[in-house]
Amino acid sequence: MLRLDDPVSSVKFVGTRWESKLKKLGILTVRDLLFHFPVRYEDFREIYNIADLIPKQEATIRGVVEEIDTRRSWKRNLSITEALISDDTASIRAVWFNQPYIKNILQPGTVANFSGKTSGGGDMYLSNPTYETVRGEGMETKHTGRIVPVYPETKGLTSKGLRNMVAAALENITSLKDPLPESVRTETGLPEINESLKNIHFPDVLDDAVAAQHRFSFEDLFLLQLYNLRQKITLAKSESIDIPIDLDYVKSVIGSLPFSLMDSQKRSLWEILKDTEKKMPMNRLLQGDVGSGKTVVAAIAALNAARAGRQTAFLAPTSLLASQHYNTFVKLFGDFEGGVALLTSHESEVFYGHDLSTEVPKKNLASEIKKDKVKIIVGTHALLQKYVDFPNLALVIVDEQHRFGVRQRAELLGGKRAALVPHFLSMSATPIPRTLSLTLFGDLDLSIISELPKNRKKIITKVVPSKERSDTYQFIRNEIKNGRQAFVICPRIDPSDQSAGRPGYQAMLLSQMKAVKEEYEKLSKKIFPDLTVRMLHGKMKPAEKEQTMQDFLEKKIDVVVSTSVIEVGIDVPNATIMMIEDADRFGLAQLYQFRGRVGRGEHQSYCFLFTESETQNANRRLKAIVEAKNGFELAEYDLRQRGPGEFLGDSQTGMPDLAMKAIQNPELVKSTRELALKILKEDHALKRYPALRERLNAFEKEIHWE
Ligand code: ADP
Ligand code: MG
Repeated sequence: MLRLDDPVSSVKFVGTRWESKLKKLGILTVRDLLFHFPVRYEDFREIYNIADLIPKQEATIRGVVEEIDTRRSWKRNLSITEALISDDTASIRAVWFNQPYIKNILQPGTVANFSGKTSGGGDMYLSNPTYETVRGEGMETKHTGRIVPVYPETKGLTSKGLRNMVAAALENITSLKDPLPESVRTETGLPEINESLKNIHFPDVLDDAVAAQHRFSFEDLFLLQLYNLRQKITLAKSESIDIPIDLDYVKSVIGSLPFSLMDSQKRSLWEILKDTEKKMPMNRLLQGDVGSGKTVVAAIAALNAARAGRQTAFLAPTSLLASQHYNTFVKLFGDFEGGVALLTSHESEVFYGHDLSTEVPKKNLASEIKKDKVKIIVGTHALLQKYVDFPNLALVIVDEQHRFGVRQRAELLGGKRAALVPHFLSMSATPIPRTLSLTLFGDLDLSIISELPKNRKKIITKVVPSKERSDTYQFIRNEIKNGRQAFVICPRIDPSDQSAGRPGYQAMLLSQMKAVKEEYEKLSKKIFPDLTVRMLHGKMKPAEKEQTMQDFLEKKIDVVVSTSVIEVGIDVPNATIMMIEDADRFGLAQLYQFRGRVGRGEHQSYCFLFTESETQNANRRLKAIVEAKNGFELAEYDLRQRGPGEFLGDSQTGMPDLAMKAIQNPELVKSTRELALKILKEDHALKRYPALRERLNAFEKEIHWE
């Protein structure tokens, strides 16, 4: 008998032969296979008489193969297999392309079901039907004569193959313990897990499949709520250092800035200061559009903590961003003498005021921090964890927090060593609508910077169809000749790289996308041979990436061609062009982020959305970017159009797909939350629910935001 954690190769029909294909779909274990759910179903239940078939109809017939033959068509290098099939009422031809082996399976005299679509027009035939030989009347079919599941596929592994594997796994799996407590199932009327698994793959009626889908959506959301609530309970039991607000000092800091803070910046700052004034740990998300000025708000909170003699860790996802933040401190708060440090893979510096930043060996810096001689430490997450012992840490600020895993977040919050947990502030430019953020991040408090500094020029945004491509290139060249710089974003590194974990149809879409390398070749050799073009992609070493960005910052590079990995939040005021290839392939929130990379300096900026897609939907979505007043508006729009998974972009979330979809259902969010709360109140360690506890532990490992 199979267990969920067994490798998928132990399933009949899989073996080692299909392992690598399944891996492309993210399927490694029996569990992964069974939870690889259909994207849709085809209803082939009714078996039609051949005589009753009409053109362009999806149908199943059952008949005997009269004759079958394969020939080659030289014109297109095709092999065509053609069979004549009869039942009691009539005959029809079936045609398959490039599957000559079918001739050996469907030998004359074979009785089989054929499910597929009839051709249009005069001489009607069945085009590429799925077939399944029938031995005896009562045989349980998998591919024909029933409701048939259609899965996310990958090259060389079709739904038919997957059906065989899933059916074999279902047949041999030991009965599963239901993680959903019986009380919850009774209250919600949701079906039991074993039955649901069978029904989501091979339903007898569609209602059963729908009920099963609903059950699994519920389960995912329920787990997420349990996870969030547990975090919250742990947090509520812990204590932080209360940081008094030195109002005069804060005012003088604000007054010393070269600009005046916007109202929403002031409001956010106040909310943060009021939180950190308490002994209860702060857990707050500071949201604001790209360029809205989050850093300075967080920085002032850190200064106030320093004033009270407390330390702040300021974490950035990349070294480059860390040094950018550090430079902000040095530039804006040149009088601060409490000690600001920068710690990245290749930099360790410290600043004690008077515009003088000095390099120090990492070891010395760490010991200064340990002696509490440095109050604000800016760095990348890994480095701070590895090197630094903060005796007096009271505040943790995390920039672009969705790039950090939940676990790290929990670790930072909990801090195994500390009796007191630090206050926690995360910052994100991803405009996550409130319902979604509540579900994703639990009970984070939210501060929002809702405007942009007044000095910003509006970015001119344009959707560029193929025929206007060369004019646009010309325009970009002129801008660069005038001293500006450009970003080019394309969706994927290498067309053959259909990385693990992606459903097949997406892999197919991805493979159609322009690759950075190709784009780089094209731009550097053909389009802009006279300019300095460089690449930036996820397979480069971090140091190489940073060097490239550094060179870009120093204007040694005119054009950077990048995948979507391009550093979040990087400030290159001289870059005024954002050109995005295959823009329709990106989530709107992501496009919005990309666009935010430009428009930060004094020059007029442009965002060009290149698209080859002529579909109305794609164009409508891109127009939404052109017209949107702010990121939130756009986020709501995208959420409605495509669902949250797409909206957040697949790189930003490991959230279970079904949970993501379910988030569109606020009722479900509410009821899962209430039920999760009820269970935890009764039994917060889940002692009476071992199956649920086990599932929740696995779930915690599955969700991550990287
Ligand atoms: P983000 O919110 O994307 O992290 P930053 O904090 O990097 O944005 O701010 C972008 C730029 O705007 C910085 O150069 C910052 O100094 C500047 N800035 C911040 N607040 C204001 C303001 N109120 N008026 C003018 N410029 C501001
Ligand atoms: Mg930022």
